[in-house]
Amino acid sequence: MSDTIFAKIAAGEIPADIVYRDEHVVAFRDLNPQAPTHVLVIPRKPIPTLNDAGPEDAELLGRLMLAAAKIAEQEGIAAEGYRTVINCNAGAGQTVYHLHLHVIGGRPMQWPPG
Ligand code: AMP
Repeated sequence: MSDTIFAKIAAGEIPADIVYRDEHVVAFRDLNPQAPTHVLVIPRKPIPTLNDAGPEDAELLGRLMLAAAKIAEQEGIAAEGYRTVINCNAGAGQTVYHLHLHVIGGRPMQWPPG
């Protein structure tokens, strides 16, 4: 499961509009944005879905969240508000099986989500 398009982006094998990267995570703009800001934060480690994360990934999951907050600040949407989403498996709409956190903002958000 390490040959997804997101693993290739993390490895620098295919291009993406990268907005943040460090030793553990990479973040890039979604190709099909659902709001003025739509960034995907991924771990470099290829975890297919949230269901596949284990206790050994606890720190990495925290890093994803902290990167999301940093990116929201960087994008100028932290104060007004933004949404973070992880779609897990097909029923939730997951299409790429490399764990990713959507950071969405720049417009008012509705609740409940669709
Ligand atoms: P999900 O439906 O939660 O699996 O989200 C996958 C997201 O990846 C979708 O919002 C797609 O628009 C986005 N996406 C797919 N391929 C790429 C790519 N090469 N670069 C950036 N975003 C992508």
